[in-house]
Order: sequence, then C-alpha cells, then structure tokens
Amino acid sequence: MKTGAKGSADVAQGYAVRLMQHLVVPTFVLNPKRRVVIWNRACERLTGVVAADVIGTSDHWRAFYQQQRYCLADLVALGRPDKLSQLYPEHTIPDDGVGFSAENWCVMPKLGNHLYLAIAAGPIHDEDGTLIAVVETLRDMTDQKRAELALQTLAASDGLTGLANRRSFDQTLAMEWARAQRTKKPLSLLLCDVDHFKLYNDMHGHQKGDECLRAVADAIGKNAFRPADLSARYGGEEFAIIMPETDSVGARKLAERLRDALARVRLPHGAPGVPPFATLSIGIATLVPSEDTRADWLLGQADQALYAAKYSGRNRVVSADKVLAAFAGAQDLRESETPQPVRKRRVRKSA
Ligand code: GH3
Ligand code: MG
Ligand code: MG
Repeated sequence: MKTGAKGSADVAQGYAVRLMQHLVVPTFVLNPKRRVVIWNRACERLTGVVAADVIGTSDHWRAFYQQQRYCLADLVALGRPDKLSQLYPEHTIPDDGVGFSAENWCVMPKLGNHLYLAIAAGPIHDEDGTLIAVVETLRDMTDQKRAELALQTLAASDGLTGLANRRSFDQTLAMEWARAQRTKKPLSLLLCDVDHFKLYNDMHGHQKGDECLRAVADAIGKNAFRPADLSARYGGEEFAIIMPETDSVGARKLAERLRDALARVRLPHGAPGVPPFATLSIGIATLVPSEDTRADWLLGQADQALYAAKYSGRNRVVSADKVLAAFAGAQDLRESETPQPVRKRRVRKSA
C-alpha cells in the first residue's frame, strides 16, 4: 500500500481520472505529445468510438472527421491560434487567452450522423508552468442549431409562398450590389407582376388567388435554380429575382422561361375582357454598378420596365434598356417586345 505525499497524489490522480471517466460531458484528454490519455464514456457515446481504440494514439480526429486534421485540443497543445480561422470558421479565443472554443458541424464517421458540436479545449500546466495535458470537452448542440436555422429560415421567408420575403430581398440586393461594385460583374433584377390579379380575386375568391400566387412561386422556384439567384415575394402579387453575375441576355432567357412556365400551367382566369389564363408581366434591369451608384437604381429601372410591360399589353418581358431606347425615340415598345401567345388584347388600363 502506498504511503506519504506520493501515495496521496496517486490517489488524487486516480480519483480525478475516474471522475472524468464518468463525467456526463463528453471529454477527452491529450498529453503534451498529443496522444489520447483519457476518452470518457460520454465521449464514447457521442462518437461511437470506444476508448480502447484511441487511448495511446493520436487518432482522436478519426472520431470527428473523415480526413486527417487537427482537433481543437491539438491547436491548444501546439499553440497554433493561427490555424483556428481555417479549421473552425466559428471560434473564439477567451479574453484570458487560455484555450480556445469553437462550434462546428461534424459528420461523425463512426455513427454516420451530422452533429453540431460546441467544443472547448484548455491546457493544464504543472506548478512550473509546463504543459501536462490538454482537455477537450464537447457539447452536442445539434437540436438548438437546427431550431436556430429553422427560425432564421422562417424569418427570411414569405409565409404564403415559401420564397424569400421582402426583408430578405432588401438585404440580399444590398449585399449583391456591393459585391457587383467590387467585382464589376453585371447584376440583373427581374420584377414579375401577375396580370389582372384583382380581377382574378374577384372572379375566384381570395383563396384561389392565394393558390395562383403559390403557382407563380412554384414556377419561379423551378426555373430560377442557380444557387446564387434569390427569388422573393416582393409584395402582394409581385415577385422579384436577383441574379448575380448575369447579363441582360441571361436575365431575359430566365424571364421568358418564367412567363412561359406560368402560361403552361394554364390557370383559368375567366374574367371578361382578359386572356383566358393567368399571365405574368416582367421587367428586367441589368447594371454593372460603379462606385457612386445605389441599388435603388436597379430597382427603379426594373420597375420602369415592368410598367412598360403593362403599358404595352401585359404578358410580356421588357428590358429597361429597351425602355430607355423607347424614351430616346429609337424604338416602339409595343412592337419590339414579347408577343402574346395566349391571346392578343388591347390595354385597358395603365399599371
Ligand atoms: P395589373 O395587371 O395592372 O397588375 O393589375 P392587377 O389587378 O394585377 O393589379 P392591382 O394592383 O390593381 O391589384 C393587385 C391585387 O392583388 C389586389 C390585391 O387584393 C391582390 N393581392 C395582393 N396580395 C394578395 C394576396 O396575398 N393574396 C391574394 N389572393 N390577393 C392579393
Ligand atoms: Mg402589382
Ligand atoms: Mg398585377
């Protein structure tokens, strides 16, 4: 039986190890050579990796990642805060500078599940200040993160159609405008408005009107599929699509595809004096923004183009550059833009 100071130190160490083994917080400990010395039960449950497979090795990364890389505890042991940004986009270094904390999505290699982990790693020094171990604790934050993401999505989307809402549209337009100012690449905007929608509601009732709006949103969702595009309900029966790095030719192609997609859904309109099926008018604006311009310009131009599409007969696509040319007397919009495949009609009111 051990006696004296050394004996009681051993007892204390054994006690500490047992405590850590049974701690409900998933925890592992590395020695200064970055070999695993403790891998507790909670860590086994979280990762599916048993202590026997990692103790004495530097294979702890295999419990969290498919490819070999540093874990947070490695960065503490190596004193490499410079690697944090690259490996952990969400990280903090506490004010006292002791240890690091981070949050990260991990595809757990052993269990195959996606977990969002809150990770903290801190050093343990002896009386002389020499590093003797690094402790990493993990917290499964997946449910909270999913709830947070769902809330964010909800706050950014329109309740009726599921597209982005006006707030999200405004934020994205400002962001993409600033990006286009930097990259000097064209930014296109489509404003789409359902034709004679007031009459549609009058004919079929508000609920059917809502269904029509969902059908328009569906057509937009199916056609504006580039990841960088943002489709939004701009308000009422108006929709907007922000198209980064897209010139006027590309924007017109999408606009025509959309108009055509809704025409093919053939939602009966039925009001007297209007085309038999619901149609869309679309205004397009494309700009390569210079430093001293504002995103409102693009919006203003798309709005003018939409107005021109309404004025020149509805169920058509008009580009802002054509509107400007028409103002300059170079072109008659009623002759130059999309013909109406559904049915020719006279313009009965201005937009
Ligand atoms: P135009 O061809 O010139 O665009 O004519 P319009 O009748 O479509 O345009 P107007 O601005 O006169 O009417 C828009 C209508 O859209 C009036 C409003 O009641 C209806 N509306 C706006 N938001 C909603 C909605 O969420 N659901 C339904 N069902 N109708 C809506
Ligand atoms: Mg409108
Ligand atoms: Mg309308």
